[in-house]
Formats: sequence, structure tokens, C-alpha cells
Amino acid sequence: MHDEPGHGHHEHHDASSPEVRVEALEDLLVERGLADPERIDATIRRFEHDIGPMIGARLVAEAWADAGLRQRLLTDADAVVADMDIRGAEIEHIEVKANGPGVHNVVVCTLCSCYPWALLGLPPNWYKSPEYRARVVREPRAVLVEMGLELDPGTEVRIWDSSSETRFLVLPERPAGTEGWPAERLAELVTRDSMIGVAHAADPGGQ
Ligand code: FE
Repeated sequence: MHDEPGHGHHEHHDASSPEVRVEALEDLLVERGLADPERIDATIRRFEHDIGPMIGARLVAEAWADAGLRQRLLTDADAVVADMDIRGAEIEHIEVKANGPGVHNVVVCTLCSCYPWALLGLPPNWYKSPEYRARVVREPRAVLVEMGLELDPGTEVRIWDSSSETRFLVLPERPAGTEGWPAERLAELVTRDSMIGVAHAADPGGQ
């Protein structure tokens, strides 16, 4: 709820126990008749089952399989998202950044935790951590190595800082050995972390 339109970046990551505070807030809203517990539960269920990285993965896989779509995605992702009828929170404006030989993109929100929810589901805890947010900008390679991603020394690392106006999605490199695969099968290789830029797409050998 911190990323609603018009909201700046502040005062939402200092609570000692977010779970307790959220529960207290929910109780208060329900008690005052401002929120319906059924609707809150339905929203949580939607995020758990209907919205998740599989939406972004499908988009990436289709872009791998279709050069025209890939080009459109890189130049006007908003139009592609609208055409594919992908809806939901936090993707009012999305930009897609393609990895390729010599270039690797990583997404962060240095100020809080802006994230393309409708494409990737709920952000992982590490994405919201002060450590990731600060360090991935200062020492991206060290952070990536700690997360299991070793890049070629000659690869340029580009960091994209999200905001309430712009969200980013990384288009990972299509793994070798997947020639001729249909998009549905390709999508299984597209992990959440690869779309944040802290991992490569999965190895097709593992399929
Ligand atoms: Fe943010």
C-alpha cells in the first residue's frame, strides 16, 4: 500500500514488526467499518494464486519467441502490457531492459520497494531490505556474486532505480539450447530473480 499514486518515498520501512502493525491496522479498519475482512482475504488470495512471476515469465518467453514482440516490449512495454490485457497494481508505467552480450541489467528501488507487482507478484523480502537497496548500487558485482550470479568481468552492469512512476522488468537472455521451444515451455525457464536481474534464466538442461 506504500506505492499508491502520488505517494512519495518515506516512512514505511522502519516498523520493528510489520506483521503486527498490519494486523493491528486490519483490525482497526474492520472495527471502524472501513474494510471488509472478506475482501482483504480475497485480495491476498489473488496475490498468492493469480498474480505472480508467471505473468512476467509469459511475457519474457513470448518476447524470446517473437522478435517483433521483443522490439515492442523494449520500446513501449506499456502498449504490450495493455494489448496482452495484463492488469493489476504497480504497472502504470513499465520499462523493459534487455540483457545481452556485455550488458546485464539489475532492478532496485533504492528508496523503498517499488516493484511491478502485476508482472512479478509480491516482492521478495531481500528486495525490500536496506542492505540490497543500498549495496546493489554501490557494489553490484559483489551483491550479485553473493546471490549466486557471477558475471563476466567485461560485462557492463546497469542498475535501474524504480520509483512510484516507473517500474522496470529485466528481459533475461534466452538460454542456449532452447531453439524451437514453444513459449509455454520457455516460460518455465524464466524465474522471478532473472526478471529482477539477480540471476540468469534457468538452465534448460535442468528441465
Ligand atoms: Fe519504492
